[in-house]
Amino acid sequence: MSVSTIVIVGAGQAGASAILELRANKYEGKIILVGDENHLPYERPPLSKDVILKPSETKIEILSAEKLADLGVEVITGNGVEQINAEQHNIVLKDGTVVAYDKLLLATGGAARRLPELDALGKHVYTLRNLEDSQALVPVLQPGKRIILVGGGVIGLELASSARYKECQVTVLEQGPMVMGRSSPSILSEFLLAQHRARGIDVRLSTKLQKAELRGEEVVITLDSGEALVADAVIYGIGIVPNAQLAVAAGLDVDCAVKVNENCQTSNPDIYAAGDVATQLREDGQYRRIETWENANNQAGVFARHVMGVEQPKANPAWFWTDQLDINFQFVGDMAAAEWHVRGEMDVAQGSAASFVLFGVTDGVIVAGITVNSAKDMRHLKKMVAKAAAFEVEKHLDLGLDLRKAA
Ligand code: FAD
Ligand code: ADP
Repeated sequence: MSVSTIVIVGAGQAGASAILELRANKYEGKIILVGDENHLPYERPPLSKDVILKPSETKIEILSAEKLADLGVEVITGNGVEQINAEQHNIVLKDGTVVAYDKLLLATGGAARRLPELDALGKHVYTLRNLEDSQALVPVLQPGKRIILVGGGVIGLELASSARYKECQVTVLEQGPMVMGRSSPSILSEFLLAQHRARGIDVRLSTKLQKAELRGEEVVITLDSGEALVADAVIYGIGIVPNAQLAVAAGLDVDCAVKVNENCQTSNPDIYAAGDVATQLREDGQYRRIETWENANNQAGVFARHVMGVEQPKANPAWFWTDQLDINFQFVGDMAAAEWHVRGEMDVAQGSAASFVLFGVTDGVIVAGITVNSAKDMRHLKKMVAKAAAFEVEKHLDLGLDLRKAA
């Protein structure tokens, strides 16, 4: 079947990237981008940082209206897709419009996982996934305000950092034994915890919410220890739920997220999925979902090349970053590495900026790397992880050695 119409559902990171990748791979047919938000595609990483801290100077748009027009894309915004008719090869939008496709890409991302006991309060409770959520936090994060963040993951810690810059009194409640436990090894998690505490953020680990109630304009949170904390606002970031409802209703294979093969194809060969909504079959035979900016872009590329019959390049090791407290953290490879080795100094005097590299090693091989305020080294770490370089303590931890030469 020749492909003359590709429809992309979801005008976010993966959706925008898919457009660029399709055109870069010489697709000349029709592209229709359908999004439920009232915006053209925009970047989410700044939503927890610069959109709050420097709202007037922060640009987040990925593709402008002019660029989309140049790329020959028909754009429909503010009109979500409600149904996929896989047999008929069409989708139905909220307003009843039916759009036909030859190939469909599901790039619907995810939604903040809900905590009903907090939502029930009805006010002074926030989550963060889209631009409006971020803008709503600007008036909340004012100097002196008491802010409780529930969830000590990436979103919780980035928001804790932003709230601290805004001179709020910040408490983080994490139910697990470590911060950023999903995506960071314990050695880095301990460093992060110390940094947040050193900046005056009260981080509570292994702490559960027992009760949440309103007392006038204050929120009272009772912990499982019986302690009651009072806040002006509560923000929670406890992970996402993939927006996979359309796929479920269309009868696609879904396991919380939409299952895709190595080419990002779902159980229906004319329907693909990419980004936060997709869980992909990996080389070890397991399905895994990766919630990162880079993964959304990579999977969009895989989709476009597969549609165009272009050979897929060898995948690079997974990479992501987070910015907290003026510190840039970058991660590459397998965060479950058996051992971690520090290059540089982790413990620095309060007030001075740390800068170091961590090597993740399994069976003598470099399988992961982390840079902390040392972005220039990430390129070299990526190379070492990609070629599964042997780790040599004297060589790799020698600060006299330029890592470029070791890569
Ligand atoms: P999204 O970008 O969420 O796009 C999905 C789009 O589909 C949305 O516009 C959604 O409204 C729309 N949609 C959903 N359902 C429908 C429907 N039925 N019809 C039409 N449209 C629909 N990653 C990093 O690597 N580093 C970071 O520092 C980082 N920081 C982040 C900070 C925040 C606050 C957030 C929220 C995310 C952050 N991420 C970060 C993660 C990264 O932004 C996501 O992994 C990425 O946006 C996923 O892209 P996506 O296209 O799958 O989903
Ligand atoms: P996000 O991207 O939203 O930050 P993560 O998975 O990185 O998602 O982090 C979510 C964090 O929230 C995890 O560390 C998890 O242990 C924590 N968490 C989940 N549910 C609760 C809860 N009810 N109370 C406190 N922390 C929670």
